[in-house]
Amino acid sequence: MTKNNLLHVAIDGPAGAGKSSVAREVARRLGILYLDTGAMYRAFAWKALEQAIDLADADALAGVVRETTLDFDVEHYRIFCDETDVTEAIRTPQVSAGASAVAVVPGVRTYLTELQRRKALENSIVLDGRDIGSCVLPNAPVKIFLTADLRERARRRQKDLREQGRDVDIERVMEDMEARDRQDAQRAAAPMVQAEDAVLIDTSYMAFDEVVERVLELVRGVRP
Ligand code: C5P
Repeated sequence: MTKNNLLHVAIDGPAGAGKSSVAREVARRLGILYLDTGAMYRAFAWKALEQAIDLADADALAGVVRETTLDFDVEHYRIFCDETDVTEAIRTPQVSAGASAVAVVPGVRTYLTELQRRKALENSIVLDGRDIGSCVLPNAPVKIFLTADLRERARRRQKDLREQGRDVDIERVMEDMEARDRQDAQRAAAPMVQAEDAVLIDTSYMAFDEVVERVLELVRGVRP
């Protein structure tokens, strides 16, 4: 628990590990907020792509991010970028790659991190991302690093994409994920890393409910 009795749960890990669905269900069960920080990077990448900003132009990106409004409809899990509902638009492979590209820019990270911390300052909340336990909320009492085999993660992602009517080759999904994980883990600014005090959960052979239960068990450990 934090000083003001708020509960912060940090869930980090590579692409497709199931962070968002687990985080969302854990938040629902605890009756607290959920913030998908990946969706923030995605929404900003969507805007940068729409405006044809060069994703290698760090100065331009760092300037534009500060003029960007990101809003969440927490009840319906929707995200708005400058008042446009981008919930579906940010789930394309182009935006996934774009998010990883804008996420290397320190000015972009600083701003989005500020927004994330501001939410956590006033709320009990579950956040999922890459750097929550290591950078955004280093004092979070519950930190989890969620992972799974690359093939299993790609299989899950392929299933999600199929549900959206997109048929993609699993080898291609694996390649994209591996490239994104590499970029996320190797960037200089707040790289994806398992925080020293994070609990590793490998979900390769776990059912969804089992993963949720394991996280709730860790929460009970700090909030009996
Ligand atoms: O979690 P998701 O796959 O939606 O994240 C999209 C991208 O946003 C990641 O590949 C990563 O580059 C970036 N990201 C980040 N820090 C976070 C959350 C996401 O750098 N806390």
